[in-house]
Amino acid sequence: IRIPMAAKAKAIRVHELGGPEVMRWEEVEVGDPKEGEIRIRTTAIGVNFIDVYFRKGVYAAPAMPFTPGMEAVGVVTAVGPGLTGRKVGDVVAYAGNPMGSYAQEQILPASVAVPVPPSVDHKQAASVMLKGMTAHVLLRRVFKVQSGHTVLVHAAAGGVGSLLCQWANALGATVIGTVSNEEKAAQATQDGCHHVIIYTNEDVTTRVKEITSGKGVNVVYDSVGKDTYKASVECLASRGFMVSFGQSSGKPDPIPMSDLASKSLFLTRPSLMHYTATRDELLESAGEVFANVANGVLRVRVNHTYPLSEAARAHADLEARKTSGSIVLIPDS
Ligand code: NDP
Repeated sequence: IRIPMAAKAKAIRVHELGGPEVMRWEEVEVGDPKEGEIRIRTTAIGVNFIDVYFRKGVYAAPAMPFTPGMEAVGVVTAVGPGLTGRKVGDVVAYAGNPMGSYAQEQILPASVAVPVPPSVDHKQAASVMLKGMTAHVLLRRVFKVQSGHTVLVHAAAGGVGSLLCQWANALGATVIGTVSNEEKAAQATQDGCHHVIIYTNEDVTTRVKEITSGKGVNVVYDSVGKDTYKASVECLASRGFMVSFGQSSGKPDPIPMSDLASKSLFLTRPSLMHYTATRDELLESAGEVFANVANGVLRVRVNHTYPLSEAARAHADLEARKTSGSIVLIPDS
């Protein structure tokens, strides 16, 4: 394949913190990869809630202006001097740092890029890399879900939520999911939720207590934060695990130690990057995800695609809870 060298490309850039409207479509210098780096021409870009946190300043943003985005699939267009094991034309994916995937071209450290198996298409890979590795880490490493466990997943029809439910079901757990509406409930049921709670109509704690005959659940995966953490703690069984891994509704208030003492609970706040810090950990997580896509355990729901130049619309829909499954941006040619 002959791939043209691009000194310039278009990218989304944020010059000031704020709503989706602060994302501008601009020309940027890309440059050439240095030692240990590759350059990719992106073909599909995953949108993740963390991109919203950086755009709004919930997480400290890098120096302005910056290009958001922490996940992409692309074709290698150049490799840095002396780099072996990568060549122009390879299809690779990455998730996590460095930020800057909302771009037609991006420079990456070769160490973060993993090969995409030919059985997984680019849109699927960009939908499942960050969210799927998160699901892997949460279900297999932060708390090891086993057959017979009961798990509660908030935002069960969301990007990470959909994968968590499918995977937890395949592990033999009883899965309880919470969602905001009927349509999302139908998707969560298809994704292996044994019980779906529509939290806009029903009280989550009461329903979980009914479903578990008063016992509570072994683990809660809570990505919603402020609005849900209190109910999450109430829903746990004795010696249960509270896994707080996001804050889509805002930062949860501090949990008093006495709330944990009453049931000998565990509390953890994991970040994917700490569980994929080494190349071996990264390859293990990505390998598990791609294998489970290939063998049908994980159905990747690419429910929404937008042109990259319209990333603002994707953010607005994500924040308004209008989306389910994954969102992918396709670079404008
Ligand atoms: P989702 O697709 O899950 O989108 C967010 C969903 O959360 C919404 O669709 C909505 O579902 C629910 N929600 C509840 N309250 C709100 C609110 N006030 N505003 C917006 N949404 C709300 O997004 P992702 O799959 O990209 O991410 C899910 C979560 O996982 C995020 O919090 C993200 O930060 C976190 N995450 C954490 C990682 C880590 O390393 N710790 C890694 C990856 C993701 P409904 O309509 O059903 O309420």
